[in-house]
Amino acid sequence: MFISFEGIDGSGKSTQAKLLFNELSAKQDCVLTREPTQGDIGNFIKKLIKKKKINPMAVQLLFAADRSFHVENLIKPRLKQGAVVITDRYFFSTIAYGKASGLDERWLRDVNDRFIKPDITFVFDIEPKTAMGRVEARGRGKAYFERIRFLEDTRKMYKKLALEYKSNIIDGTKSIDAIKEEVFSIVNSWHAPIV
Ligand code: ADP
Ligand code: MG
Repeated sequence: MFISFEGIDGSGKSTQAKLLFNELSAKQDCVLTREPTQGDIGNFIKKLIKKKKINPMAVQLLFAADRSFHVENLIKPRLKQGAVVITDRYFFSTIAYGKASGLDERWLRDVNDRFIKPDITFVFDIEPKTAMGRVEARGRGKAYFERIRFLEDTRKMYKKLALEYKSNIIDGTKSIDAIKEEVFSIVNSWHAPIV
């Protein structure tokens, strides 16, 4: 089973991914992973985006390169061994952030189309203001309002993808416990499609 957690920063992905991992790994082989990865390309991305000195298309191509590495070196091999793989961010994130940064949606989709699809995707939906309040206390300057607008666009694209891919939209404003129960129940009631 391949599960992804998606949503803007501060929406609660990592919290829930960890809770689910703790729950599942007590009973079965399970791996919790994330993007950008801890690999060479992922670490390179983290360094670059901190400096903010790179154009959006280059960023998204790097994310796709990191994802290709992630899929081939970790996700596919671990799924083959029968593990449950949980990833904190996957291709929805680059389409949503990439689109919000002005890139062509068709191109973003094409680039990401070849990666295996998760069996279950959770999209954490929350107002950017609330999410940003959770991760950092910032001033209310121009950059703050620009960031909010950017995250509004990102949120819209996440929702569009969620509807298209029949993902589970989670109300990120609910309590950690309530969301945990919702996530567990969706994962527990999942059955592999009959092919
Ligand atoms: P993300 O991984 O999506 O950026 P995190 O899981 O790291 O989000 O959560 C960001 C912050 O918000 C953390 O301090 C976390 O404890 C808190 N948090 C997570 N989920 C909730 C929730 N449902 N309600 C309130 N606070 C939450
Ligand atoms: Mg996180």
